[in-house]
Amino acid sequence: MGVVCPASEVPGHVLTPLPGGDTHFERDSLVCWDEEGCLIAPERNRSKVEPVRDLDAGCLLVPGLVDVHVHLPQVRVRGRFQEALLPWLQEHIWPEEERFSAPGYREQVVDEFRTGLLRAGTTTAMVYGAPQANSAEAVLEGLSPLRAKGGDVLMDQNGPEDLLRGAENALEEAATHVQVYGERYALTPRFAPSCSLGLLEGCGRLLSGTTARLQTHLAENKDEVAWVHDLFPQARSYTALYADCGLLGPRSVFGHCIHVDDEDLGLLSRSGSWVAHCPTSNVALGSGRMPIERLLGAGVSVALATDVGAGPDLSMLDVMRSYLEVHRGFLSPDPGQALALASLAGAQSLGEGNRLGALVPGRQADLVALRIPGGLRRGESGKDALWRLLSEFRGRYEDAVAGVWIAGVRVSV
Ligand SMILES: [Zn+2]
Repeated sequence: MGVVCPASEVPGHVLTPLPGGDTHFERDSLVCWDEEGCLIAPERNRSKVEPVRDLDAGCLLVPGLVDVHVHLPQVRVRGRFQEALLPWLQEHIWPEEERFSAPGYREQVVDEFRTGLLRAGTTTAMVYGAPQANSAEAVLEGLSPLRAKGGDVLMDQNGPEDLLRGAENALEEAATHVQVYGERYALTPRFAPSCSLGLLEGCGRLLSGTTARLQTHLAENKDEVAWVHDLFPQARSYTALYADCGLLGPRSVFGHCIHVDDEDLGLLSRSGSWVAHCPTSNVALGSGRMPIERLLGAGVSVALATDVGAGPDLSMLDVMRSYLEVHRGFLSPDPGQALALASLAGAQSLGEGNRLGALVPGRQADLVALRIPGGLRRGESGKDALWRLLSEFRGRYEDAVAGVWIAGVRVSV
C-alpha cells in the first residue's frame, strides 16, 4: 500500500466472527497490530504501540466489511427504483454505463465510489466495472487502498450497441487482464441474456485454465428467468446453463439466486460456488425474497452484498439490517451471523478467508469502529449492541462509522 504503518492499538468492544463459525465478543478490549499491519495479541509489543487517541473507547470494533457484489459505474444512479429489473436496466443503468466511457466522468465516479465505500466501513469488495475493457483498470487500480477484485462487464447481445463487444474480442481482452491482474481479475459476463453461448463458454474456458475469478447474476427475477429459458432452451435451467458452460466453482460468485430449484441448489453446493445475497436490492426491485433457509440447508455458501446501484446504499450495515428483517419468520437470523456474512464469508468468497474477515492475530488489521447508540449497556452482549445499532441508529449508517483501517492504516474518518 506504500504507507508506513506504525504499530498501533484501538480500544473498544471487540465483536468478530471466528473461522470455526462462532462469534467472539470482548468488552473493554483492544485491537492491536504490528508495523506490517498484521493483527497481534494485545500483550505483544506493547512498548512500541501507539494508541489511537481520538476515538471514543466505547465503540464496537468489527472486521472491515466485505461487499461481494457492487457496481462501480452505477453509484450515481443508485436508488432509482423501478418496477422490475429489465426496464430499470434499460432506463437507468445502460445510459449511465455509457457515460462511464468518458475519462473525466469516469474519474469522478471512481473517486465517489471509493470514498463512499471506505466511509461506509467497506474495506474489501468484488466490483463490477462497465462494459468498456478499460473499466477493469478503474476497478483494479483506481480503488486503492480499498481491496478490490472484479473486472469489466462482458456482453455481446441484447443491449445497446455502444456497450456490446464481440465475444472473441472481449475474451481476448479478458485473457490479457488475467495476465496483468491474476486472481484479482474476475470474468464478469453481465448475465445470461446479455451473452451469447460462445461468450459464456469462453468465460468457462478462461475460468478453468487461468487463476481468474468469475462473477455474474443468476435468477434474480422471474421475467429474466423466462427470458433465459427462451434464449437457451437446451439448458435445463438458468443455473444448469452456467454449469454447462463451466462457470460454476469456488472462484465464482453468483448474484441473487432467488428463483432456483433443488437441482440448482445441488449444482451450486457441490461445485463450491458462492452466492452474493443482496436483500436491499431485492426489496428495491421487487425481485422477491431469496430463500436463504433453502440455500443454507442445501449447503450453498452465501455472503452479503449491496448490489449498488439496485441497492440504494453503499453501507453493508444497511444490508445487514435488511437481512435480519426480510428473513424474520423463515430462520432465526442473529446479528452475529449477519456480521459473519458481511465480513468473514465475503473474505472467503474472494479467496481471502485466511487473511481477512476476522479480528484474529495473524490476519490483516482491517477494522471498523462503530458508534453504539447510547454506548454499550451493562451486561449487554456484542450481538445485542450490534442489533441495537442496526435497528436504532438514526440517520445515515455512515455516520455510525467512527474509524476505518486497512492493514493498520486509517483510511476514513
Ligand atoms: Zn448486480
